[in-house]
Amino acid sequence: MKISPSNEYEPVLSDWQKKKPRILERCREKRAELVASLGGRCVQCGSQKKLEFHHKKTRTWIASQLNRWSRLARYSEEIKAGLIELLCKKCNQRAGKPKDDEFTHDPDFVPDF
Ligand SMILES: [Zn+2]
Repeated sequence: MKISPSNEYEPVLSDWQKKKPRILERCREKRAELVASLGGRCVQCGSQKKLEFHHKKTRTWIASQLNRWSRLARYSEEIKAGLIELLCKKCNQRAGKPKDDEFTHDPDFVPDF
């Protein structure tokens, strides 16, 4: 293998920094999968934009205490159990939502892992 001199000054990335883009990409894919499994549109107005997971019943966990991947796993279980429906941001706001649910209304929110 040839080592090019330009590699010499490449920053040293931690394992997490190397993995982060891939993990975020997997989160996006997983979220898109969950949205599609729920029909991909708001159950109230049919909008396909700014979709959020809405708990039909008050959920028993706090989103800000879980990292993004754990939250998706939780959503996935709840979707299978029929506890979640898709609402767009507008309809969800009307339905009322917990303040800590930053993940659902900001798809680009990057949590602390
Ligand atoms: Zn809607």
